[in-house]
Amino acid sequence: MSATTQNDAAQQATSEPGRVWTGGCLCGAVRYTITEQPSAISFCHCGQCRRLHSHVGAYTTFPRTAIRITGDESLGWFASSERARRGFCTRCGTALFWDPIGQSRFDATAGSLDEPTGLTADRHIWVDFQGDYYHIGDDGLPRLRSTDAANASGVPVDG
Ligand SMILES: [Zn+2]
Ligand SMILES: [Zn+2]
Repeated sequence: MSATTQNDAAQQATSEPGRVWTGGCLCGAVRYTITEQPSAISFCHCGQCRRLHSHVGAYTTFPRTAIRITGDESLGWFASSERARRGFCTRCGTALFWDPIGQSRFDATAGSLDEPTGLTADRHIWVDFQGDYYHIGDDGLPRLRSTDAANASGVPVDG
């Protein structure tokens, strides 16, 4: 089964018309609402995510137009590359967003979502950059390298 097929199945299973997803940082200063079905979760093993999150990054993606953020005064941005910036709470340090500049998509960290998320994980990405201190368990999920075309549909793409 391809990652795409799994993703579609997961989204169908959790799709609820009119539902919104909420989330926020550890201290509560920054909160957000997502008004369209977020994607399945990608586990990102790239060096930037591991450094930022202390380990693997976990993200969902959705249309940029679907997010509303409150607490902007506590939301900081770090340009992690020329192509993307990462949003975090300047009070508590929670990593919240991955924002690919100029793209229609926008990503939020899985851990900042309020539960129940109704989401499942469907892939590991950037596995060729995984840390040397762990092994990816046998969880049955596809493992995409940075050079795989399908990696582009995962989150985050890079940076
Ligand atoms: Zn905070
Ligand atoms: Zn990453």
